[in-house]
Amino acid sequence: MSEIISIKDIEFKSGSKVLVRCDFNTPMDEFNNITDDRRIRSVIPTIRYILDQGCSVILASHLGRPKNGYEDKYSLLPVAKRLGRLMDREIKFAHDVVGHDAKEKVQKLQSGEILLLENLRFEKGETKDDINLAKSLSEFANYYINDAFGVCHRAHSSVHAITQCYDSEHKAAGFLLIKEIEFGQNLIRHPSRPFVAVTGGSKVSGKLQALTNLLPRIDKLIIGGGMAFTFLKALGENIGNSLLEEELVEEASNILKKGRELGVKIYLPVDVVAAQSFSNDSAIKYVPVQEIPNGWMGLDIGPASVKLFKEAIADAQTIWWNGPMGVFEMDKFSKGSIKMSHAIGESFATTVVGGGDTADVVERAGDTDEMTFISTGGGASLELIEGKELPGVRVLLREDDI
Ligand code: AMP
Repeated sequence: MSEIISIKDIEFKSGSKVLVRCDFNTPMDEFNNITDDRRIRSVIPTIRYILDQGCSVILASHLGRPKNGYEDKYSLLPVAKRLGRLMDREIKFAHDVVGHDAKEKVQKLQSGEILLLENLRFEKGETKDDINLAKSLSEFANYYINDAFGVCHRAHSSVHAITQCYDSEHKAAGFLLIKEIEFGQNLIRHPSRPFVAVTGGSKVSGKLQALTNLLPRIDKLIIGGGMAFTFLKALGENIGNSLLEEELVEEASNILKKGRELGVKIYLPVDVVAAQSFSNDSAIKYVPVQEIPNGWMGLDIGPASVKLFKEAIADAQTIWWNGPMGVFEMDKFSKGSIKMSHAIGESFATTVVGGGDTADVVERAGDTDEMTFISTGGGASLELIEGKELPGVRVLLREDDI
């Protein structure tokens, strides 16, 4: 089994500078207030550990998808402030990534101090896996730690190219990344059975591969959310105006067929909360999926589906949940997701939640402490569960394992 180099394996020389790639891609409201700081809190153990080795910490992260250099709304300054408050210490902030300000502040950085660089994606090279940007970043620090699970499925400069600038004694995975990989790998290698996958969200396209790869590993598959309608269509239901990926109906049908061949039980909604428009003010109807009126769309699973899905997870030993059951952002269509969150949280299974939206549902439902593990990555956690090798992880494996 390949083994990732752990931060615990590194012998840090006191007085050194350590670059930590974090995933501070946190949700913010229209006033640039951070609405969920879980990703910031999750990196604190790694930061503390490095400080305790007598080193200083240089943090680097991306935020959102800026297109053309600096933009106020993508600045990491609010993250520096929040981290400072969470750690109750000063976080220095560089107003660029590898420019004059960063260089000057890195040079002045003393042991025990923390510096956050500005958004990595203000540099064009970041998403292009540019080795020159990687080299400039590596000049700042003697060691490199990756604790940014959420971007490990991307070969970006600060995750991938940069590892070429450090030998295996000077680069490693941080505590969060190790925990994410362990949970993900255990789930696909040694799940306690019955193993139930609960999926939802809007797009079948983003999850088709994961579902196909998951089928041989799981005992039951529950499909809710917008993606369920492509499957219901494949079964010949009239789904009104509900979300549909027409070109994937055949694939959905293949998944149902493959599930039957493998003996995997597949559960789809039996009723929905339907409305005529995407709005909190629209009139709603609870209808069986066979009776969605023309012009109406299913925006949440209904009470009978919640009951059915609860029954299906009752004997589960492992539950993996990715994707909300409805348009949970609107109160009217959030009940299905909230009730599923309670049901999964109350179960005695090992429960692993992946994806920002699903983590958000769990938070709103007040079930965060009830889950065994909530992944900080959406796409990355999906790819890990699919059994894919993540580019950012591969470059941190012990060389004899590759
Ligand atoms: P995804 O990015 O594919 O995980 O989808 C998450 C999004 O799916 C959330 O923003 C939900 O509002 C949306 N969603 C869930 N159920 C439905 C539905 N029945 N119709 C339309 N959108 C949905």
